[in-house]
Amino acid sequence: MGRRGIKEYRAHEALQLILADRDHEPLSCPSCGHRTIQRTPRRRLTAAWRDPCRHVTLRCGKCGRQAVYVPRNVTQPSDSQLLAR
Ligand SMILES: [Zn+2]
Repeated sequence: MGRRGIKEYRAHEALQLILADRDHEPLSCPSCGHRTIQRTPRRRLTAAWRDPCRHVTLRCGKCGRQAVYVPRNVTQPSDSQLLAR
């Protein structure tokens, strides 16, 4: 134990948490069941959702496990549209 103090979820646990976050459902730790999940960036900062490259970190406040993902449900403007002016 104690690999740099950062614990990660197993793959299926991380997927469960990520899908819940993507669908804007209440988050709870798939490993220990704790309901305090620290989300970075916070959901209220809607501007963050416009940056498709922004990583979202979900970390359990109890067991310390974390999952990181990049939101893919954000509509990305195509490069051609940006260059069309
Ligand atoms: Zn936990």
